[in-house]
Amino acid sequence: MSELRWDPLKLNWVIIATERGRRPRDFYVDEEKKSMTACPFCYGNEDKTPPEIFAIRPDGQPNTANWRVRVIPNKYPALRVEGEPSSRGYGMYDVMNGIGAHEVIIETPDHDRSMADLTEHEICDVLKTYRARYLDLHKDFRLRYMVIFKNHGLRAGATLHHSHSQLIAVPLLPPVATTELRVARNYFDTKERCIFCDIVNFELNEGIRVVREFSNYVTLAPYASSSPFELRLFPKHHSHDFALLNDAQLSELATAMKDMLLRVKTVLRDASYNYILHTAPPPHRRPGKPGYWSSLEYDYHWHIELVPRLTQMAGFEWGTGFHINPTSPEDAASFLRDAEV
Ligand SMILES: [Zn+2]
Ligand SMILES: [Zn+2]
Ligand SMILES: [Zn+2]
Repeated sequence: MSELRWDPLKLNWVIIATERGRRPRDFYVDEEKKSMTACPFCYGNEDKTPPEIFAIRPDGQPNTANWRVRVIPNKYPALRVEGEPSSRGYGMYDVMNGIGAHEVIIETPDHDRSMADLTEHEICDVLKTYRARYLDLHKDFRLRYMVIFKNHGLRAGATLHHSHSQLIAVPLLPPVATTELRVARNYFDTKERCIFCDIVNFELNEGIRVVREFSNYVTLAPYASSSPFELRLFPKHHSHDFALLNDAQLSELATAMKDMLLRVKTVLRDASYNYILHTAPPPHRRPGKPGYWSSLEYDYHWHIELVPRLTQMAGFEWGTGFHINPTSPEDAASFLRDAEV
């Protein structure tokens, strides 16, 4: 069982998950060994993964080939579904048992196609899978937050080459989410407007950081990008919860996603990247906290954040939390806008 441990100095939770690596040699780089083992995400290897949770498959039995998108529990989960969340003190520290969910979304049966190479229809299937998993996990009252993310390429932390994303659900709100949610709520409290809507409208007017605009979505380089070619994709009209999108909305989002990923792939020569879907936490009532995120519908606005992994966190970044970004977001937007895709 993994544990969530609280760092009282950094004010952050850390997940200690020892299933993957515990000895020094587990961290030695062994590229040869990695590329030689058969890929568990390819057709015909369905029995090499834990039994699937969800799949888009035109016909046939679960855990057989012929699927288009497949969701399985992570073989080495950071958190596990079984049990009740409980927290306790340990001396001056706090510790929680590692309840949650850790799923892998295999986006395509093709070993060598990355997400940018998929058709809009195929990307839409991936987005529908994201929605289905959110809606299902929303029913679990122990889970307070879910995040879907993708690691593409070695520098982004992808350990398997076959294109996939991951979903992690946690029993508490992570600090990154808490900050964003609080900022949005405070802004709404004083201005009665959504901060994300204000940013989107301002950037659409300015234009210099806009990479591509669609009828209902916009991709832009954030004003204070912390790393080169960072991007955010927003719905242009207020929308707090990704899980509430209908098929038509997901279909246009697939077009916008494909465009964003292709631009990154073309301009940055298939650089490693991470993207993260930020959406409203499940609106569960909490005993003793009647106001718990009750205004999300008005003040929060889902979005996708994409960070190409072109630079590394070095001493100054670790030591101060300040990032030094060598490419201005205005230049990044212009390179990406001009790319032929
Ligand atoms: Zn494969
Ligand atoms: Zn909004
Ligand atoms: Zn965000």
